[in-house]
Amino acid sequence: ENQLPRPTRRRIITVANQKGGVGKTTSTVNLAAGLALQGLTVLVIDLDPQGNASTALGVDHRSHVPSVYEVLLGEITVADAAAPSSQASNLYCVPATIDLAGSEIELVSMVAREGRLKEALNSEAVERLAPDYIFVDCPPSLGLLTVNAMVAAHEVLIPIQCEYYALEGLGQLLNNIELVQAHLNPALWVSTILLTMYDGRTKLADQVTSEVRGHFGDLALRTVIPRSVKISEAPGFGQTVLTYDPGSRGSMSYLDAAKEIAERGAERKSA
Ligand code: ADP
Ligand code: MG
Repeated sequence: ENQLPRPTRRRIITVANQKGGVGKTTSTVNLAAGLALQGLTVLVIDLDPQGNASTALGVDHRSHVPSVYEVLLGEITVADAAAPSSQASNLYCVPATIDLAGSEIELVSMVAREGRLKEALNSEAVERLAPDYIFVDCPPSLGLLTVNAMVAAHEVLIPIQCEYYALEGLGQLLNNIELVQAHLNPALWVSTILLTMYDGRTKLADQVTSEVRGHFGDLALRTVIPRSVKISEAPGFGQTVLTYDPGSRGSMSYLDAAKEIAERGAERKSA
């Protein structure tokens, strides 16, 4: 595979949008696999108790496996929990088990509750894995798990579905990011908007696309992810679309998006 540029320093990208079903998990796993298949080392942190990212990456997430839950509690390291994905070499995933479901509440009473993931990622254990990219797949809420993801990251990637009400709730998300910037992580910024589930046959898809580009300018990737049955089928086989159907439009679009992310780098642009 053709090699992508290695970032000058590790990029930690949180994939967030408090709306469910907009393509957070799908984008996380396919972008991660896209970068890994093109030569980079990638670690995915599954921070959604549903464990869908773990499933799509072919990583066991039954309740007894070492998971992100024990990592957040400080009981084990990221390296203890990181499992190799079946989807690419140099691709690893810290799975989420159902145990994580109670953690929003458990975390509340913990010391440095917003910084648990950041601390875990700053460890010697992560240095040994030496990931070029870390992606954090967030649950569909703005609770403590998502705050942990935003505190640990440099960048936020927001997937936006080309559908009705696509922009609804975005103001709330951006407000939350600003709060985290103001109080917990001044370096955080929204580096990437990814338009997903684009259906070229509908006028609406184009309306949403131009509205998002008008608002976010170059932060929105040129590559748009089409609505594709292959993309939605792949997780049922414990796969990303990149291995499930490599030649499909969905697969090509995620490879292109991964390339675009790698090639434009982490340079901060003014939106
Ligand atoms: P989120 O993580 O934001 O809740 P998901 O990534 O799980 O969203 O996507 C929601 C549903 O939409 C899933 O069933 C997924 O397979 C499907 N899906 C995601 N992206 C696409 C796409 N481009 N085309 C078709 N189906 C998609
Ligand atoms: Mg999800």
